[in-house]
Amino acid sequence: MQKIAIFPGSFDPFHIGHESIVRRAIPLFDKIIVMIGFNANKKSFFPIEKRIKWINQVFKDVDKVEVRLHDGLTVDFCKEVGALYILRGLRTSADFEYERAIAQINKKMHSEIETVFLLTLPEHTPVNATIIRDIVFHGGDASQFLPKGLDMEEFKMNSKKSNS
Ligand code: ADP
Repeated sequence: MQKIAIFPGSFDPFHIGHESIVRRAIPLFDKIIVMIGFNANKKSFFPIEKRIKWINQVFKDVDKVEVRLHDGLTVDFCKEVGALYILRGLRTSADFEYERAIAQINKKMHSEIETVFLLTLPEHTPVNATIIRDIVFHGGDASQFLPKGLDMEEFKMNSKKSNS
């Protein structure tokens, strides 16, 4: 049976911390699905189609990684795609407390699911999507926190600020 892992998040935007977790997990699984949690009623900073495109660009040479959208519970998506693993990154003890509760609840809802945690690389601990959005919103350069190969002009052009 294929070992399929889901990496769920909002990825608004997908940054080097996320990329590192996925790349480090590649040897552990047959397939990793980056699941963008999507809520049609919630406004995101970057458009959903761009977020999908940028993640696909990062992993264009990696067959094992794919990107999907899901509006609903992560455990339901796991059932839909036959995944038994949820991949998460841990930055701090605050992350741990939050993630512990979600993982234990997910296990209650779908007993076969295992959540697999990878500790963030030390240099990625302070990187988070909220701060990146703030930098972009105020016209700063966030490129050092983003995966290589992204078209920075397209990135800036597609932020909520440039659209408002
Ligand atoms: P959320 O799930 O709150 O929307 P994100 O979309 O930012 O959060 O993150 C998705 C996953 O990536 C989570 O498991 C989170 O812990 C992990 N993650 C976020 N930032 C980093 C980072 N800098 N290094 C490693 N993992 C991270």
